[in-house]
Amino acid sequence: MKKRTFLCGPVEIPDFVLKSLHRESFSHRTPEYEDIHRDVVALMQKVFGTSRDIYVVTASGTGAMEASITNCFSPGDHVVVPIVGNFSTQFSTMLQKFGLKVTEVPFEYGASADPSVVEPYLKEDVKGLFVVHNESSSGVSNDLEAFGKLTRDTPILLVTDSVSGAGGLPLKMDEWGVDIVITASQKCLMSPAGLSFIALSAKAEAAMEHSSFPSYYFGLDRFKEKSVIHQTPTTPGIYTLIAVQRALHYLNEEGFEQALQRTKSNAERLRQGLKELGLDLVAKDGAIASDTLSTVRVPDAKDFRKKLKEKGFIIAGGLPPHTEDTVRIGTMGYVFKEDIEALLSAIKEVLNHDS
Ligand SMILES: *Cc1c(COP(=O)(O)O)cnc(C)c1O
Repeated sequence: MKKRTFLCGPVEIPDFVLKSLHRESFSHRTPEYEDIHRDVVALMQKVFGTSRDIYVVTASGTGAMEASITNCFSPGDHVVVPIVGNFSTQFSTMLQKFGLKVTEVPFEYGASADPSVVEPYLKEDVKGLFVVHNESSSGVSNDLEAFGKLTRDTPILLVTDSVSGAGGLPLKMDEWGVDIVITASQKCLMSPAGLSFIALSAKAEAAMEHSSFPSYYFGLDRFKEKSVIHQTPTTPGIYTLIAVQRALHYLNEEGFEQALQRTKSNAERLRQGLKELGLDLVAKDGAIASDTLSTVRVPDAKDFRKKLKEKGFIIAGGLPPHTEDTVRIGTMGYVFKEDIEALLSAIKEVLNHDS
């Protein structure tokens, strides 16, 4: 039985990406490495929609999130975090641990962050606004472009965790005025985990001068210095970078725009099919529903996933506190129309069997 997986990270790694890893080891202080690094950065710039440099950090996405805090902010800084689910909460928790003064702006579960509700919180002393691009718990996307309009002409840095967005959702860092973009290798980039990517606008880079946090491993000043020669300060996850390079070449050949379109139409078809089967999404409406993952309400999540698994379909579980009554269906990475149709048929069988 061919297994079909619809995970939310780490996602399935396509065969051609796995095969690219079968090669001799080499040092990161060689022209061979530099070529890969340079190539990946150039392609990632297309994914981020930026002409700024992109730093390759050997850590999961959370490492780059931490780097954004410790390089561009200081303890006591006042920052604003719209809360739309677990991952926005995680960023807020991290900021509080590092001693920043955090104002959370809570939204109902299944809603996106409303810029007009957040705007009044952006007072004089606010240094940063942390908006998750795609909330991987509730399956909702935020309108970064609208948030960029709020911060663009202010000293406030707009920081986005796009770990489950970049490569699957439109992202125009420069045009939208996003100051810090973060993503990781194991989601839309369909590679093994272990690498994260971070880009800083000129405004964010200038803020590094004023940060009073100590940093070494995650010190982006050191990344900047090495980046000039297409290297990293310490040994990077070379094999993960090879995988990312292969995956990015695939997306480039498909066309980055085309890949986004595929992700979008897959998600639209999935949402329509689920609706026809009488299943509801957590996302309040289609316009804010994420195209990289759908969080679906089901009566018994464990049983639903088990029955789908028996048919060869792997989907992700819901996140706390919704582990029992939601499941998440990832449409990020190497997912095609046939996969969605097959999944919908399997879901239909599971539901019919139960009724
Ligand atoms: C997966 C995910 C993360 C965490 O990334 P790690 O690579 O596990 O550290 C952060 N934010 C979002 C939105 C995610 O989907």
